[in-house]
Amino acid sequence: MILCQLYIINNPNKLLIGPHTPVSQYMSKAVRREESFSSGKLSLFDVIIVGSGPAGYTAGIYTSRAKLKTLLITGSLPGGQLMTTSEVENYPGFPNGIFGPELMMNMRQQAERFGTVAVDDEVVKVDFRRRPFELSTNAETYKAEAVLVCTGASPRKLGIKGEDSFAGRGVSYCATCDGPFFKGEDIVVVGGGDTALEEATFLTKFGKSVKIVHRRDSLRASKILQDKAFENPKIEFLWHHVVVDIQGNKKVASIVVSDVESGKVRTITAGGLFVAIGHDPNTGIFKGQLELDEKGYIALKSNSATSVEGVFAAGDVHDYRYRQAITAGGFGCMAALDVEKWLVERQHHVNINTSASLYRSE
Ligand code: FAD
Ligand code: NAP
Repeated sequence: MILCQLYIINNPNKLLIGPHTPVSQYMSKAVRREESFSSGKLSLFDVIIVGSGPAGYTAGIYTSRAKLKTLLITGSLPGGQLMTTSEVENYPGFPNGIFGPELMMNMRQQAERFGTVAVDDEVVKVDFRRRPFELSTNAETYKAEAVLVCTGASPRKLGIKGEDSFAGRGVSYCATCDGPFFKGEDIVVVGGGDTALEEATFLTKFGKSVKIVHRRDSLRASKILQDKAFENPKIEFLWHHVVVDIQGNKKVASIVVSDVESGKVRTITAGGLFVAIGHDPNTGIFKGQLELDEKGYIALKSNSATSVEGVFAAGDVHDYRYRQAITAGGFGCMAALDVEKWLVERQHHVNINTSASLYRSE
């Protein structure tokens, strides 16, 4: 079992262990550590997955099915972003669609079925300076040979009245996901970046009209996307305006906008409001431990490997281009396979190097 063998190499008492110590002695220590986990005290795993969106659960399915001792720490949003939506129509395998929370519960059960231990807690601190890596929640410190970061990204919110109460009832943060629900509606898109323009163009396939509300009078989106939007007869721009209120009964019926220059307020009829003002990657706890890119996303070195050997990443936490459940799940699968390969290679390395110096090398 990989955990036992890796445990031997990374035993905190490693300097006391020499090449002549019987293997059974190491094994019994490893087993004792495992037993103490079942009584709630232990904390050493082959891999700890941080995050419980499609990337995390998919990774858990793969690592636990590969017999890696897997802990998954769910974070404060067990199930990830899809828990905040209703119908998911574009996840393959569900011809009639599936509710986001149901899809995520299914994924969790599938991961647990193969032995993933899911803990509903949040990682507040990590130490990736040495192996085994340490991850602390407010309740416990866990250790693992490998870590898979799947903490996702959160769509930025406008922070205005009605935004939360109309979420899923006309307010959306993902046109690819929700566009088809807005057939024949007047739609408002907020933002002036690539996402806003790409989403506005996509939404013209469904909506009667699409109005882009932007707080300035110039866009930061790429020229090619700007040209496409300007040429589209269904798209209209409302410059230097911000959305200040959302109105409706059961669903969004109108949007209140304010002119940032004159302060003049007016109401626009709209059945949908797409907020496209960027995302924030959930990487705060990894600052100073993992290399991040200029936007704060995890920078990958090769495949799913991060700047720290043995730490991998998957899903929206590194991918700001695709941001879909299926792509996050796909990245989770790829990273899990990379983790498994890395652990196996390391185990092989360990098996052929049994000298005491190896124990002292870390
Ligand atoms: P996330 O789903 O973002 O999950 C991140 C996880 O990390 C969460 O469980 C969180 O609790 C956890 N976490 C964060 N910080 C910590 C920490 N410190 N410790 C422990 N855990 C932590 N995509 C589609 O394909 N189809 C759709 O119909 C669709 N609809 C959407 C509707 C909405 C409203 C939104 C917001 C998104 C939608 N998406 C949809 C996009 C999709 O949800 C994301 O692309 C996908 O969830 C990303 O998966 P992920 O696993 O990378 O991260
Ligand atoms: P972004 O480039 O950060 O743009 C966010 C937009 O929202 C900006 O126009 C900003 O206005 C506006 N905004 C921010 N906060 C706001 C608020 N509180 N109220 C009103 N408006 C607000 O984000 P993005 O468009 O999501 O793009 C993220 C990255 O992904 C970029 O690097 C982008 O190039 C890339 N991307 C590429 C493609 C593509 O190549 N096809 C597609 C999508 C995204 P200001 O301009 O005034 O700051």
